[in-house]
Amino acid sequence: TDAHLAAIEAARVLNAYVLETPERAREMAKAVDEKIAKGEGGPLAGIPLGIKDLFATRDIRTTACSKILSNFIPPYESTITSQLWRDGAVLLGKLNNDEFAMGSSNETSCFGPVTNPWRREGSNTTLVPGGSSGGSASAVAASLCMGATATDTGGSIRQPAAFTATVGIKPTYGRCSRWGIVAFASSLDQAGPIARSVRDAAILMCSMAGHDPKDTTSVDIAVPDYEAAVGKSVRGMKIGIPKEYRLDGMPAEIEKLWSEGAAWLKAAGAELVEVSLPHTKYALPAYYIVAPAEASSNLARYDGVRYGLREGAKNIIEMYENTRAEGFGAEVRRRVLIGTYVLSAGYYDAYYLRAQKVRTLIKKDFEDCFAKGVNAILTPATPSAAFGIGEKGADPVEMYLNDIFTVTVNMAGLPGIAVPAGKDAQGLPLGLQLIGRAFDEETLFSLGEVIE
Ligand code: GLN
Repeated sequence: TDAHLAAIEAARVLNAYVLETPERAREMAKAVDEKIAKGEGGPLAGIPLGIKDLFATRDIRTTACSKILSNFIPPYESTITSQLWRDGAVLLGKLNNDEFAMGSSNETSCFGPVTNPWRREGSNTTLVPGGSSGGSASAVAASLCMGATATDTGGSIRQPAAFTATVGIKPTYGRCSRWGIVAFASSLDQAGPIARSVRDAAILMCSMAGHDPKDTTSVDIAVPDYEAAVGKSVRGMKIGIPKEYRLDGMPAEIEKLWSEGAAWLKAAGAELVEVSLPHTKYALPAYYIVAPAEASSNLARYDGVRYGLREGAKNIIEMYENTRAEGFGAEVRRRVLIGTYVLSAGYYDAYYLRAQKVRTLIKKDFEDCFAKGVNAILTPATPSAAFGIGEKGADPVEMYLNDIFTVTVNMAGLPGIAVPAGKDAQGLPLGLQLIGRAFDEETLFSLGEVIE
């Protein structure tokens, strides 16, 4: 814990932490020491972690990196973080993220952008760590924690993991409790770990997963020993290579990495099969209807009345307006506007309802593929390596295209893991993604370890 606290102090330039909690960390570490002495340490005894600032931490400021929550100190603890503390982990502090987890570069945070510890060879350009869990990825990559919590609505665990050579898994929807996590798009949101290795991610998942009666979408099935899946043989597994992910104009180095990954799995005894997921091209546009629709509804609660920021005004309507105009950043306001529009009378059928139908088709594509005996699907994690801070700010659609390989997985509720697999010509990390059957994260850990 002390070593990590010192490392965090020395690397403040990365802006990975929005709140450091050294006193709490030392207190927790001391309490764990006493437990260890009694032989009651727990599986994560003394492991110092960073927590994305979307997870409510009792008596510790939790902001979702939004000005509207800048004074919010929750009187409760999220289920996932309670489970981590129960197992002996130590809180180092709260990690930066895109405001309300809306973004792919961690540039929409009210605390400013996070820097990726990686640099292009021979260049001083500062790069984004990806988003929205950019603080989590940057902190893990720079050894400012041994692992971090993160959330993924359309790729926010896997894309930053790919940009920083870390491992990130988005579990099956319902595997981890969403209770106490600031909601973005509730039917897509799922929490998971970002870690230094596949094994570390598996160990963290053992503590994070599990049924929670406080989250009605949490599923009551036993949590397997994920760590035991790491290193298990993948011989005889069928790996689908979806032809629709071979995009026009995809950089040659991404193609090459994808083929290499497939070859490694084949060498480990897996069988490769070409598969088709015909509705893939509709996933991104459908996601950018469903996610903002749910976000506009979830964010209606930030009205200045109950908690968070309140701006003065002459009457209550003006108070709502002033509070929300002042409290939400530009990207969040854009999502609220899109979401309100697609849900409004007259447009609901044309946009929201249609997007939900597309979502069903996307889900069915995967079901058809798994029904043919495919155990997992291999794809690139991102269409490029990390880009420069400020490089993609101007055009929101260009930013949204980052999620092209990841959003399908959230739309279908399936588990997906991003694993570091190689580097581009400038020495930047690139990742591959494995998509699994519902509640079969174990297969992803076994296959992920082969690629790692
Ligand atoms: N980049 C996507 C978005 O901005 C996904 C974000 C996420 O997974 N939280 O919506």
